[in-house]
Amino acid sequence: ATKPPTRYSITLLPGDGIGPEIVSVTKEVLNLAGSLEGVEFNFQEMPMGGAALDLTGVPLPEETLSAARKADAVLLGAIGGYKWDKNEKQLKPETGLLQLREGLKVFANLRPATVLPQLVDSSTLKKEVAEGVDLMVVRELTGGIYFGKPRGFGTNEKGEEIGFNTEVYAAHEIDRIARVAFEIARKRGGKLCSVDKANVLEASMFWRKRVTALASEYPDVELSHMYVDNAAMQLVRYPKQFDTIVTNNIFGDILSDEASMITGSIGMLPSASLGESGPGVFEPIHGSAPDIAGQDKANPLATILSAAMLLKYGLGESDAAKRIEDAVLDTLNRGFRTGDIYSAGNKLVGCKEMGEEVLKSVDSAV
Ligand code: ATP
Ligand code: MG
Repeated sequence: ATKPPTRYSITLLPGDGIGPEIVSVTKEVLNLAGSLEGVEFNFQEMPMGGAALDLTGVPLPEETLSAARKADAVLLGAIGGYKWDKNEKQLKPETGLLQLREGLKVFANLRPATVLPQLVDSSTLKKEVAEGVDLMVVRELTGGIYFGKPRGFGTNEKGEEIGFNTEVYAAHEIDRIARVAFEIARKRGGKLCSVDKANVLEASMFWRKRVTALASEYPDVELSHMYVDNAAMQLVRYPKQFDTIVTNNIFGDILSDEASMITGSIGMLPSASLGESGPGVFEPIHGSAPDIAGQDKANPLATILSAAMLLKYGLGESDAAKRIEDAVLDTLNRGFRTGDIYSAGNKLVGCKEMGEEVLKSVDSAV
């Protein structure tokens, strides 16, 4: 007898611009990959971002947040657009994103940067340097200088105007992000590089001390430390040396964007934001691309790969995740490309058709 399917509830937040197109395609891929592994989904679609602003006056309505809280995972499309940037007084769609992260207490942001052999030519680096890059940046998302107090504007003792912020990390904040990173490194290449500025900043010295203290619990992971200025150089010089990187909020913000440019394919890059327990948020790193919205031109692969992260890191359904990852590679191998990753000799397709080809690949791999 076959066992009954495992059911998960997923909150879909399509958002703005190309968000609805890429989420709708991704939903089908999730359904198919899940069904092949005995997994079923209840999808609940809720408004967020500019779409929610137009509808309710706020970028993250209470009903959306409470639905997300009850779900097993949240899949987000993209947020924002010109339309809501004009009005200075109005709330911004992006505010909803911060509120969602805060509301779900997701403190770990995972951003893989992988140079696929099929797309190595889109990298900003020379082929020899870019080839084979496969790294993961684990960024602390809810602490550090972006949230530390005191902060604000004032005057110094000479009466001159100043602006100031504070980098603070408590022991538990460092330990929990480090644990996430050690666990991920353990499942990847077994190497973890902690990036800090421990030669100058006390918060970084403390960070290094806590991360080092945890290393004995992960004897199978090789831990190293690097100053952030050096890490920024090494990422461009020889990115293959990195497997998993763990770092604080501000360094992670910068390094994860730098790492994504190595791949050169913004339409291909997924992300995950995880909390202690409760649902994670999974979304492409690209924005709402208002310039191509509604034209069936968007590359849905970053969102489809975010769905694979949802299965793997959000639900522990690694087999279904692998089906999606393999299907994306197979689709690229069969030559299908959206405009953003197109090069001569390939087959140019739109968002919908790309989704259909991924579905065929999921199906044919049975
Ligand atoms: P945001 O502020 O929302 O991050 P942005 O302007 O910084 O927006 P994107 O919205 O990511 O950045 O768009 C940057 C460029 O990349 C645009 O020209 C857009 O068309 C293109 N782009 C982004 N995502 C995709 C995608 N999935 N498929 C195709 N092109 C994309
Ligand atoms: Mg942007």
